[in-house]
Amino acid sequence: MSAQFFCPTCKKEVERLQACGAVQYFCNHCNSLVSKSKVITSPTQNSEQESS
Ligand SMILES: [Zn+2]
Repeated sequence: MSAQFFCPTCKKEVERLQACGAVQYFCNHCNSLVSKSKVITSPTQNSEQESS
């Protein structure tokens, strides 16, 4: 099972890079690395924390 991850900036799908156990993501649209903690699991997800 492989989850899809999206760039928090442009909401495009990111490419998964794995090296020495460390996983990082690369956005082809922004042409930049996105750290594991920054990627979002849904393109519609809001990066802001919602506290209702
Ligand atoms: Zn991007």
